[in-house]
Amino acid sequence: MPAQFNGVPLPSSGAKIAYRNNSFIVPDNPIIPYIEGDGTGRDIWRASQRVFDAAVAKSYAGKRRVVWYEVFAGEKAFRQFNNWLPDETVDAIRELRVAIKGPLTTPVGGGIRSLNVALRQILDLYACVRPVRYYQGVPSPVKHPERMNIVIFRENTEDVYAGVEWKQGTAEAKRLIDFLNNEMLKGTTKRIREDSGVGIKPISITGTKRLVRMAIQHALAANRKAVTLVHKGNIQKFTEGAFREWGYELATQEFRSQVVTERESWMIDAKDRNPELTIEQIAEYVEPGLEFAPPKFRDELYAEVRSVLSAIYNTHGQGAWKQKLMINDRIADSIFQQVVTRPEEYSVLATPNLNGDYISDACAAQVGGLGIAPGANIGDQYAVFEATHGTAPKYADKDVINPGSVILSGVMLFDFIGWKEAARLIESSMERTILQKKVTYDFERLMEGATKVRTSEFADYIIQNMDVARTTAA
Ligand code: NAP
Repeated sequence: MPAQFNGVPLPSSGAKIAYRNNSFIVPDNPIIPYIEGDGTGRDIWRASQRVFDAAVAKSYAGKRRVVWYEVFAGEKAFRQFNNWLPDETVDAIRELRVAIKGPLTTPVGGGIRSLNVALRQILDLYACVRPVRYYQGVPSPVKHPERMNIVIFRENTEDVYAGVEWKQGTAEAKRLIDFLNNEMLKGTTKRIREDSGVGIKPISITGTKRLVRMAIQHALAANRKAVTLVHKGNIQKFTEGAFREWGYELATQEFRSQVVTERESWMIDAKDRNPELTIEQIAEYVEPGLEFAPPKFRDELYAEVRSVLSAIYNTHGQGAWKQKLMINDRIADSIFQQVVTRPEEYSVLATPNLNGDYISDACAAQVGGLGIAPGANIGDQYAVFEATHGTAPKYADKDVINPGSVILSGVMLFDFIGWKEAARLIESSMERTILQKKVTYDFERLMEGATKVRTSEFADYIIQNMDVARTTAA
């Protein structure tokens, strides 16, 4: 591999993370590239890095160490290399596989590729992963924020992120509208208005299945109880509805012995409760009012019940299904209510791009909002962990901003590379610091009797609390 990127030599004290047989091989001294970020990114990164290093040092007593390696993007890259995103930055992340970044300015004036989009596309980071859980003491707008503990897997390459759209009034838009009206919609009552802008919403089998696979693998590894497919399939049957269908297909084909769908669970449960029930009676249990349905619908449901019971009753019956990972689905609008009223019923959500965008922020708002919301873009061979907020430029270099989002993105990174002790130590120490009411301005203004601390001081207190957390745990 090249000995340097952007003129900065790779540190000889570190080793690179490798990828073999579908897994990451992490040395005890991995070189991890970081992008400091613009605006408040500088304060945040400085504080976060100290927290990360302290947690690793205290967890592994010198046996493990992250060898940080700076790569450049955003304003810093533009100043040094006259390039907002040097190719060598992307090359470095590709070579070193796991990276972390602070927020970056979106350059004004256009014509410049966005770092996030470029990284997502080049490295095929197809899942945007957002864990949303409550840390005690964090101010929240809901009564029981502790009930939320959800991980969202949002598809990152299709749907609105495909970016396929044409501006109203252009020749391209007119051409597409004409084609649709004159050919595809010919003979129907549907028309696209001539003065429309138009966009295409592709959702593929490939994109859906790999995303749902990652969500299920995570749920099984983390011993989570359910994966919920979130979609708007009641309206958009062939995109959102297909996401649901392909999700179920993937789950039942690739993870058969480990999962049960909600619908299957109704059939199995009915038979568990009364083994004498006929196929027809079980079908009635699944679709109440079945007697009024057309015969074709009834026959199809009978066939489905027969097929499910003969395929999995032996393995999933007599209560065994209760130990399996539940796969269910919810319509997008209803999930917005549910995560507010009954968040404890949800565990892992798998969503197409646009729904996932909204639901991620709606969930994060309940447990403390932007300043503390971590995230990652993950593909099969690379992962980039990042703050979910922007650069908050008015607070730049004032040492006041909340570094929680990057710190918790680091927690995700440590979990990802298997350094669980460091991850838990950071979480518990940060929680303790917030419970002590030593918080940055954004939390202080929402908390009674809190002490407002600087970004750097917040990191100091977290580090101090690591010793308390370790003594308590011992
Ligand atoms: P923003 O930077 O996220 O800031 C909006 C407001 O959110 C801040 O003024 C602050 O609210 C609050 N906030 C954000 N981060 C916080 C933190 N760490 N701690 C406490 N409060 C925090 O959004 P923006 O002002 O719309 O965007 C600024 C720049 O960031 C733009 O160039 C945008 O394109 C870019 N951006 C980058 C990313 C990324 O790199 N991932 C994401 C989003 C936006 P108060 O004023 O109420 O304190």
